Amino acid sequence: MIGRIDAAAKRLNLDPSIHKTLRTPRRSLIVTFPVKMDNGEVEVFTGYRVQYNYVKGPSKGGIRYHPDVTLEEITALAGLMALKCAVVDVPFGGAKGGVACDPKKMSMGELERLTRRYTYMILPLIGPEQDIPAPDVNTDSQTMSWIMDTYSMLRGYTVQGVVTGKPVELGGSKGRATSTGRGIAYVAEEMLRTLGMDVNGTAVCVQGFGNVGMNVAKFLHEDGCKIVGITDVTGGLFNPGGIDVPNLALHAGRNKMIRGFSGGEFVPDHVEANRRLLTMKTDVLIPAALENQIAESNASDVKARLIVEGANGPITRGADVILNKKGVHVVPDILANSGGVIVSYFEWVQDIQAYLWSEQEVNARLKDLMTAAFAQVREFADKHEVTLREAAYMLAVNKMAEITRLRGIFP
Ligand code: NAD
Repeated sequence: MIGRIDAAAKRLNLDPSIHKTLRTPRRSLIVTFPVKMDNGEVEVFTGYRVQYNYVKGPSKGGIRYHPDVTLEEITALAGLMALKCAVVDVPFGGAKGGVACDPKKMSMGELERLTRRYTYMILPLIGPEQDIPAPDVNTDSQTMSWIMDTYSMLRGYTVQGVVTGKPVELGGSKGRATSTGRGIAYVAEEMLRTLGMDVNGTAVCVQGFGNVGMNVAKFLHEDGCKIVGITDVTGGLFNPGGIDVPNLALHAGRNKMIRGFSGGEFVPDHVEANRRLLTMKTDVLIPAALENQIAESNASDVKARLIVEGANGPITRGADVILNKKGVHVVPDILANSGGVIVSYFEWVQDIQAYLWSEQEVNARLKDLMTAAFAQVREFADKHEVTLREAAYMLAVNKMAEITRLRGIFP
């Protein structure tokens, strides 16, 4: 992420003092805190909240629960959030948080106690005008409800706008749960049209079948694409005739995994399943699980014509160079998966106004913002003869630089 900011700054011939401020995070908080586990023992967890910047408005970004969470990873993800908010023109800076834990091995009670204590530990940083968390890997609307309740209890009154991705009953936005997947589907289809490819019958592979992967698979399937491969942490499902995505989604909703669904060939080892999925012959590949999935080691084996980044940072810088040389088109994460933060922005606006928009209105506004951002990035890429990623970074860095320049350096 920093390397890409540096490259954009160089191409833009950016003022070095502004460049320096944009390549470092403003605040990084590390917390360690005890949680009572169900067996009566106490475990100590480490969590993070990084505010990459807040030049445009409150910082904004998800909270991730995963054993591999580190400060370095959270910082990179916070930077991506800042770039994403800039590229789609929402009035937020970027942040990210996370706790190193294995939620798959924890009960609901343990997760609730961990979430409430983590919220308490990062309390000085968060708030509707300061920094607004949202769901990310292994966190969901229930996690956001616990954060909102904990924050509200400690403030002494209900504060809906402290998080987004809440249930609609608690001030969530209609359409938020599906927004990232819906946005990815919009830009994937726009890009297919740009390439002169028909959406109908296009073969698509999706890595990850969580909030992002499942929704993008569902929307593309509804619009006529053929989803030929899907992996999750339990393995991979392959069906050249097309996977029955709605029924797989019902199965995954019940079982929390794709394993056990019978509509195709199932590969039970997720490493092998990913190897096959990422390198199989397909029109579109959508990595929607974790970062660094396409690296220099496997990029030259990719056979997809188009990659749309559902996850944050699924392609390494080295892999980008290889894919570009091979003529593989890449719609970058900071554009492709911005649907979540766009509808989070709508949720925050609705909370401030205490007014609920219809789902139709949310989806129409989402489509407007995403198609406008896609067109802006594509035109910039064409005009300056750069990749879509370079264009998105240059546009985002330029916008943040301009705001920084106008505000000046305090004091
Ligand atoms: P999630 O926890 O809902 O789902 C993650 C999915 O990835 C699960 O199906 C899991 O089984 C799968 N997975 C995990 N490890 C895997 C592996 N090694 N191989 C294959 N599959 C694996 O998370 P999510 O919200 O869908 O987020 C996925 C990605 O999208 C992350 O990079 C996240 O930062 C990014 N993202 C999420 C949102 C959002 O609104 N949820 C918005 C923007 C970006």
